Amino acid sequence: MSKMLKFVDLKRETPEKIEVGERRENFLEIYKEFIDHKAKDQASRCSQCGTPFCQVHCPLQNNIPDWLKLTAEGRLKDAYEISSATNSMPEVCGSICPQDRLCEGNCVIEQSGHGTVTIGAVEKFITNTAWENGWVEPIKPLNEIKQSVGIIGAGPAGIAAAMELRKEGYQVTIYDRYDRAGGLLIYGIPNFKLDKSVVLRRTKLLKDSNIKIINNFEVGKDSTLKELKEKHDAILIATGVYKARQIETPGSNLKNIFPAMEFLTASNKKGLGDEVKDFDNGTLNAEGKNVIVVGGGDTAMDCVRTAVRQKAKSVSCLYRRDKANMPGSAREVANAEEEGVNFIWLSSPKLFEGKDNVEKVTINKMRLGEPDSSGRQSPKIIDGAEESLDADLVIEALGFEPEEIPKLFGEPDLEVTKWGTIKTDLKTLKTNIKGVFAAGDIVRGASLVVWAIRDGRDAAVGISEYLKSISQKKKNKAA
Ligand SMILES: Cc1cc2nc3c(=O)[nH]c(=O)nc-3n(C[C@H](O)[C@H](O)[C@H](O)COP(=O)(O)OP(=O)(O)OC[C@H]3O[C@@H](n4cnc5c(N)ncnc54)[C@H](O)[C@@H]3O)c2cc1C
Ligand code: SF4
Repeated sequence: MSKMLKFVDLKRETPEKIEVGERRENFLEIYKEFIDHKAKDQASRCSQCGTPFCQVHCPLQNNIPDWLKLTAEGRLKDAYEISSATNSMPEVCGSICPQDRLCEGNCVIEQSGHGTVTIGAVEKFITNTAWENGWVEPIKPLNEIKQSVGIIGAGPAGIAAAMELRKEGYQVTIYDRYDRAGGLLIYGIPNFKLDKSVVLRRTKLLKDSNIKIINNFEVGKDSTLKELKEKHDAILIATGVYKARQIETPGSNLKNIFPAMEFLTASNKKGLGDEVKDFDNGTLNAEGKNVIVVGGGDTAMDCVRTAVRQKAKSVSCLYRRDKANMPGSAREVANAEEEGVNFIWLSSPKLFEGKDNVEKVTINKMRLGEPDSSGRQSPKIIDGAEESLDADLVIEALGFEPEEIPKLFGEPDLEVTKWGTIKTDLKTLKTNIKGVFAAGDIVRGASLVVWAIRDGRDAAVGISEYLKSISQKKKNKAA
């Protein structure tokens, strides 16, 4: 650990901040050593309180106290076995779960004022160690079952379901309209939060487990749901939610105003080494620009922090409520503030101005009024209180809604809720169409990776029960 002082201050630097070269090599070596010590130290802070609120508040009900104890004892392989028994991608959740709202926020040590055990970091450490040591192996089912499942969407819900079904021996094919698997893990969430190599190695593991992944295949364009149903014994819809809410502000048709996913996808593709025309010609590159991001959720935080890393001239975030009412994680907001993002609370765009491209944004200042039907105080415009900001790039990060799946998939009878999400049975996740199940954001609305994984695993159980009942019926008929 003494080397650490020679080279870098680990409190201030992270692997993402260190450029390539010898300094990075040194940094990574020291960083790993530091993380090893830190993970074990943290794990040994768990008091084994016997009332595991952390576990209860983890959507996967991970057996956190047990794997913390094993980590503290240095029994990392056992810790990995336990941690991966309930989580299909522990290294991903360990990196990007909002732990402050889930496991860590409910740690009794945190609540007694002594600072939480950093559960997520330990979970990530255990699984990364498992990958490094070759403990994460392709799935080899004990029996091969002829029945096949078609999964639409290679995001966390689809991947989790595919892994669970394959373990049982089913033949699994995943269809995805993107050119890479991973869903929002690959093209939504930025590299500085989730290193893409983590997603790529999972995708490889799926392929090595004989899970077929068909990319550039869009259901609704390349096939209807009915056609896919004819190829498989069961179908899982795990398509996520992608219809971006738009700003209805005069001037919003000007060039250089983009939905968040367009900006983030370009950045992620570039990071993966792709040629991205609109990034290379500067359109979707924030470098040297005054960037304004509209929205207050985690997607907005990812956009502002990406713009900072692209060396924007200035980055401002407009949010119509105040800081206390931001929907995004407090930790993400703090990170963005530390990185120099200018938050303009209680503000919303009134007018975008410019010739072809946006050049200025006039903003309305707001105040918080009476609570609305959701119980949150509704923002009201303060008449005459306006401000004008220079803008070269505006990014809309106002959230996502489901696409019209029944229409898109040529299946008008598929039942959806009033929000357009797919209606399912809460336990089995089956839809009203026989043999068709749904999981993840397309059922819940925009949510979290950990919930998508939970749904994917639950749907796998529902699908397996359904397929078993089908084969039983066939056997009974034949008898
Ligand atoms: C910018 C951003 C940052 C986020 N950050 C976090 C975070 O830090 N932590 C966290 O827990 N959650 C985060 N989330 C939320 C999280 O990513 C989602 O809740 C999760 O990915 C949902 O998983 P899913 O499998 O349901 O859908 P997705 O991940 O959206 O995957 C759906 C897949 O379906 C494919 N698809 C869609 N339609 C079709 C079709 N017609 N035919 C074929 N394929 C199709 C898509 O290409 C995609 O690959 C973030 C979301 C965004 C947008
Ligand atoms: S999956 Fe998420 S909530 Fe559960 S233990 Fe891991 S980091 Fe915490």
